[in-house]
Amino acid sequence: MLEPDYADIRDAVRALCADFPGAYWRDLDARMEYPTAFVDALTKSGFLAALIPEEFGGSGLPLSAGCAILEEVQRAGCNGSACHAQMYTMGTLLRHGSDEQKARYLPRIARGELRLQAFGVTEPGSGTDTLSLRTFARREGDTYFISGQKVWTSRAEHSDLMILLARTTPKEDVARKSDGLSVFIVDMADALKNGMTIRPIRTMMNHATTEIWYDNVPVPAANLIGEEGKGFRYILSGMNAERILIAAECIGDAKWFIERASDYAKERQVFGRAIGANQGVQFPIAKAYAAMRAAELMVHEAARAYEAGANAGEEANMAKMLAADASWEAGNVCVQTHGGFGFAAEYDIERKLRETRLYQVAPISTNLILSYLAEHALGLPRSY
Ligand SMILES: Cc1cc2nc3c(=O)[nH]c(=O)nc-3n(C[C@H](O)[C@H](O)[C@H](O)COP(=O)(O)OP(=O)(O)OC[C@H]3O[C@@H](n4cnc5c(N)ncnc54)[C@H](O)[C@@H]3O)c2cc1C
Repeated sequence: MLEPDYADIRDAVRALCADFPGAYWRDLDARMEYPTAFVDALTKSGFLAALIPEEFGGSGLPLSAGCAILEEVQRAGCNGSACHAQMYTMGTLLRHGSDEQKARYLPRIARGELRLQAFGVTEPGSGTDTLSLRTFARREGDTYFISGQKVWTSRAEHSDLMILLARTTPKEDVARKSDGLSVFIVDMADALKNGMTIRPIRTMMNHATTEIWYDNVPVPAANLIGEEGKGFRYILSGMNAERILIAAECIGDAKWFIERASDYAKERQVFGRAIGANQGVQFPIAKAYAAMRAAELMVHEAARAYEAGANAGEEANMAKMLAADASWEAGNVCVQTHGGFGFAAEYDIERKLRETRLYQVAPISTNLILSYLAEHALGLPRSY
């Protein structure tokens, strides 16, 4: 295998993750608790501020460095979903926020004093059809009052700030459905005192996700990002980064599964020899490895296109889909290689399998990626 990029960063992430072994994650998983110590350690080490420009106190590294960090987190058996959003939600503020907003928040995020982990887009009534969301921000003087409901707002209870997408003009009154949506920075502590209610959702993996009700929650107009009504464009521009970073996490998961499966296949003796001596055991692992390597190339290609300033929509979507498929298949093979032990919690395989399953659905489901490719890469009619 070629030497991967960012070798020093990868070594440092691996060293940090060594303090958070499987037992740490199993215990949290059983209690459905947030990995506060792990997120604190990643924050203190500066990894979560890797993409924040140096002028605001971050490391100013490109997206591919974020990919290397998150890939190593997953490859070490840890779970970056507890904090990965900070890397991409920050981009919305960085690219579209005013100088005053950037100066107010970014240095404090970089120092680890503020957590920008929550991202409120999905609603129960609209799902993937984001443009039909109904949460509404009504302006009165210098304040917007927000009412509505979001679902799957992850990490809301562990974040000081949230990036929120809401309608500011009803869908019926705009020329294009993508107009009339706006993005706000919500101060969670203020909102909780003024009409915001958070309810955790228990899921098949430990993910700290929630649903949130907004009952006339006041948000200062100074917290509107960019121009009113242009918010959908701002959110879209961050979605490619999100998909590429999550694809890198899936590559990390796939590597973890493949390494575990190979190690076990070398050690486990049945019928007087290592199970890995049987081609029926070897070949599925080898196939998962080839699929992972191919997906990894697409992740690199997507990061390259993104960093070159190109519209990386096609590459970002393909990277996310291929990497999520590779991690899911590698997980399946890892369970099979371990036989009954693949189901035992103490091996961590079933936990990682539950965790990586999410990426077939979030942040965008496979069907919607295929629709995107059909329409934008192949020129087929729009199907929805
Ligand atoms: C654990 C978790 C964490 C999440 N975190 C966040 C978060 O922090 N912030 C946030 O805003 N959202 C978050 N999400 C939401 C996530 O982005 C959505 O679940 C995802 O986009 C799918 O939307 P949906 O669940 O409403 O599915 P739906 O839109 O209801 O779709 C259901 C199924 O139908 C398929 N489908 C729908 N329309 C079509 C079509 N036209 N053609 C073919 N197939 C179609 C979909 O592919 C999917 O398989 C999270 C979700 C989960 C489960």
